[in-house]
Amino acid sequence: MRSDPREYELVAPASLQAAVALLARSPAWLPIAGGTDIMVLYAAGKLPSRRLVSIWNLAELRRIEVLPDEVRIGAACTYTDIREHELVGREFPMLARAAAWTGGIANQNRGTLGGNIVNASPAADSLPALLAYDAELILVSVRGERRLPYAGFHIDYKKTRLAPDELIRSICLPRKFSGYVSHARKVGSRNAQAISKVCIAALGRVSGKLVDEVHLAVGSVAPVPLRLSETERIITGKGIDESLVRLAKKTAVAEIRPIDDIRSTARYRAAVAANLVAEFLNMLRVDERNAMTDVLARWNAATLEAAVTQILPCCGSQAWALKMAARRPFRDESSLAAGSDETWRDLTESDWMEAFRSHPRIGESTKPESGKHGSSAEKSVGWSVQEQEKAGNAGDEVKIALAEGNREYEQKFGRIFIVCATGKSAPEILSILRRRLQNDGATELQEAVEEQRQITQIRLKKWLQG
Ligand SMILES: Cc1cc2nc3c(=O)[nH]c(=O)nc-3n(C[C@H](O)[C@H](O)[C@H](O)COP(=O)(O)OP(=O)(O)OC[C@H]3O[C@@H](n4cnc5c(N)ncnc54)[C@H](O)[C@@H]3O)c2cc1C
Repeated sequence: MRSDPREYELVAPASLQAAVALLARSPAWLPIAGGTDIMVLYAAGKLPSRRLVSIWNLAELRRIEVLPDEVRIGAACTYTDIREHELVGREFPMLARAAAWTGGIANQNRGTLGGNIVNASPAADSLPALLAYDAELILVSVRGERRLPYAGFHIDYKKTRLAPDELIRSICLPRKFSGYVSHARKVGSRNAQAISKVCIAALGRVSGKLVDEVHLAVGSVAPVPLRLSETERIITGKGIDESLVRLAKKTAVAEIRPIDDIRSTARYRAAVAANLVAEFLNMLRVDERNAMTDVLARWNAATLEAAVTQILPCCGSQAWALKMAARRPFRDESSLAAGSDETWRDLTESDWMEAFRSHPRIGESTKPESGKHGSSAEKSVGWSVQEQEKAGNAGDEVKIALAEGNREYEQKFGRIFIVCATGKSAPEILSILRRRLQNDGATELQEAVEEQRQITQIRLKKWLQG
């Protein structure tokens, strides 16, 4: 410790007005919320101020309000508050995932979303999600409140539009993304307890075969978290094919300004950012063949029983298949994808478990349980084999480690490990498994639910292709 607590003053006002009044009195007062960034500076003797005003206990900043058009997250809500909030998880899954990736459990119990924004690290995990979701901030001071888009709040490395006498009061997320495909990924040494080398939060919507909206936000590749607006522009209104993916990768690289540092090189970051953009675009891709329309048209017209049986292998939960069949007709692939996400998130935990049980263990060869779903079971097994194709080339050492990890996982969580294995190598899956073994039960359930959501989306695409 390079700081002496006797040289510091800490006050904890009882109300938001009292806190902002103190900030208005002198710029020497520095807000402290969870203190996870501030205490690092304190310990290093680098804290810029010796007068701290605690906002940790201010009720106005600690609640998540669900309004008809938006969700308002109080700036002092912790990552735990966010990742455990059912509606945030359902409507803003990329933010809930970022909260679950941030630090470890102790950090998630103290670190706040407002603190993450004001700390203004270009590598902060939650910020790309806020950009992708078109978040707005409500700032408060003795002069009143002002509301501004979060995009543009960070003006340069560690510089923001916040005045010294202002606090962030709330982060507002518009409830307008139902039915969008979303994808968040952090590339780092690990997800938790590691600063990202590159991270992405992306969402988009396809109508017919054309992308009618896309939001791409990246972190760790510029002095501030970035929306790739030029890349978005060239994609919007187009159908995704190889040449558009290539152009999008090139455009994305031209928009970012990555640097070399102790965690990575600029070259690596640029390559990964381009690949993350391509990965997302491939999720939005509608295949050229017409088989999709035929399959969907036939399924829309099938009896309820046949429709349940046909779509079941995409997810493995009877309740999901029944609810999807009951929601017919679906107009096109994107409404089917959106309906699937909504249906999946509204299921009970036991329905989720049923879907998880329909998968073979990662790294194990698979056989359908005899007579279970007839050809449905065979389809599901065939897809599992394809999904694990890349992972199948593992060496013996990795295979043994995966088997041990699977055992440990099952002992800890009482179910098999679910991961969207498509395109992932065995070592990648092993490192994900090891990280997730550190999760608590609630976080892990949320991650497994999200992985199954992605598996279902990929399978729906294959299913539509006949
Ligand atoms: C071990 C460890 C691991 C971490 N891992 C990650 C990680 O994986 N990903 C990641 O993104 N971050 C990570 N962090 C960083 C950190 O946890 C986050 O930035 C956190 O969200 C900061 O919130 P806080 O409440 O603790 O902020 P504090 O430390 O209290 O404050 C940080 C800054 O924000 C200001 N501030 C706080 N709240 C407000 C407000 N409402 N209005 C105005 N100003 C405000 C403070 O004055 C200060 O300048 C890690 C930190 C540690 C110590």
